[in-house]
Amino acid sequence: MSQVMKMSRLYAPTLKEDPAEAELASHRLLLRAGMIRKQAAGLYSYLPLAWRSLRKIEDIVRDEMDAAGAQELLMPILTDAELWRESGRWDAYGPELMRLSDRHDRDFVLGPTHEETVTSLITNELKSYKQLPVNLYQIQDKFRDEMRPRFGLMRGREFIMKDGYSFNATQESLQETYDAMKQAYANICERCGLHALPVVADSGQIGGDTSVEFMALADAGEAALVYCDDCGFAADEEAATTSVVVTEGPGDGTLTKVHTPGMGTIEAVAAFFGFPENGTRKSLALIAEDGTPVVAIVPGDHELNEVKAEHLFGTYHLMTDEELQEHGLIKGFIGPVNLPDGIRLVVDECLRDSKKWACGANEEDYHYTGACPERDFVVDEWADLVTVKAGDPCPHCGKPLSGARGIEVSQVFQLGTKYSAAMGATFADENGEEKPFLMGCYGVGVSRTLAAVVEQHNDEHGIIWPVSVAPYEVAVIALDKKGEAFDAASKLADDLAVAGLEVVFDDRAERPGVKFADNDLMGFPYQIIVGKRGLANGTVEVKVRATGERSDIALDEVVEKVA
Ligand code: ATP
Ligand code: MG
Ligand code: MG
Ligand code: MG
Repeated sequence: MSQVMKMSRLYAPTLKEDPAEAELASHRLLLRAGMIRKQAAGLYSYLPLAWRSLRKIEDIVRDEMDAAGAQELLMPILTDAELWRESGRWDAYGPELMRLSDRHDRDFVLGPTHEETVTSLITNELKSYKQLPVNLYQIQDKFRDEMRPRFGLMRGREFIMKDGYSFNATQESLQETYDAMKQAYANICERCGLHALPVVADSGQIGGDTSVEFMALADAGEAALVYCDDCGFAADEEAATTSVVVTEGPGDGTLTKVHTPGMGTIEAVAAFFGFPENGTRKSLALIAEDGTPVVAIVPGDHELNEVKAEHLFGTYHLMTDEELQEHGLIKGFIGPVNLPDGIRLVVDECLRDSKKWACGANEEDYHYTGACPERDFVVDEWADLVTVKAGDPCPHCGKPLSGARGIEVSQVFQLGTKYSAAMGATFADENGEEKPFLMGCYGVGVSRTLAAVVEQHNDEHGIIWPVSVAPYEVAVIALDKKGEAFDAASKLADDLAVAGLEVVFDDRAERPGVKFADNDLMGFPYQIIVGKRGLANGTVEVKVRATGERSDIALDEVVEKVA
């Protein structure tokens, strides 16, 4: 039996007025219901009610991860910068990375994600294909120095994430794990009461996807989506729109190809590191042949997240491995997508045909680190060639597309060998040959999910929790401040708790109107209102928060009915 929570003791400081800084319903309501408080920009305390809901989301995530064969562990939040230097992300990640140093001036990172940590963890411990696949996850605070922390829990600088990483021996095995994770993520959304679409973030060469984002539909979402009710196609409008770069380059003039995530195949691959003529360090590395974006850009003095297409204009000299090293460019340079969403550089046949274009890469391991020697190319124009908007025909089935806005609540990603190759994490395959692990990474924004749930489930009175993630399932509201009716309410609360329900008992010496308003604001799925008048007839009133439906139920049948 869980303990009945007395509202008079509950630490949930509600606000009468809408806080001025809160634009989004979820931000406003979580503050007003006394569930979160801001400590500084992007840093929030989760008060008891929010923490209960968060733990329920975590439990749903755990349940789905465990069912899919993943194992929970916990790694340090603080990460040695050496690992980030090894992977190349110390330079590539940019200002979003929270960096600090210890008393010996050794650099550390507050983990925004844990590819480096987990890769170093398994290196030399996982040794043989026989031990694979292994899928590890943790639920933990993550840190990102977001350019614009905002919207309460939606975009924090410290937030709760479930991050998971798989190590696989073969592409088939990676695909299997990836598909299982994708299914688990769909289940998680559903169990949390979220209406979400799996949106293809990047499509692989063979037409399959290598990254999917789960987008909770909400007007407040940052992403504009197009989707097809008929065949299930869904894409970020941005990704489906801006996808072409026109370059002048080696060989014969203009190179133009289209990459449309989720819609078409990738025509070619490019990975360049180079310097434009003025000598400013710039590098480009875009799409891997398997569709994974491999982007590492350090363009002049622009903030990584602010990189605009025109910042990349310039003449690039493609370098050999040796040249790269001479200039201190890191081999195995890898990073998150730092280009504006949807912008891709794609190179035409004339480059692909030249076997030299990707020095340092071999046929099996596309580990794009080098560039084609003795060639210059110019990036001087970016163009949008493909535009897909709501109302346009679906590129797959031709039916008209719908439009919506979405909140990215989770993402699954096939990383391939990016980190394992850069960090020397290998296993012995069936033939005893050392190979870098194929990796996948899988992230759920736990605290963002909470905000997204509220964004989808609220009305003018407050939050409407889905039962699965409600801080308490039932609120018993005593209309009387004392006496027999109060005692009956108190007993009912106890009985409900004994029956296995999570119960909050509004025992406060407040007017009924205040209690109704607070309980609606906090959004408990069921309210049971206990007063003298009903009791005289042997009944209490049960209100369903979602529908507003009210019914009088015999006191002695309530436990059975509600449970
Ligand atoms: P976004 O595009 O919103 O910046 P992301 O793609 O950078 O998110 P991932 O690296 O994919 O985020 O991290 C996995 C999940 O963590 C995201 O799907 C999201 O739900 C959550 N998340 C990422 N950044 C934040 C943040 N600043 N605050 C809260 N949750 C976040
Ligand atoms: Mg981000
Ligand atoms: Mg994203
Ligand atoms: Mg993401």
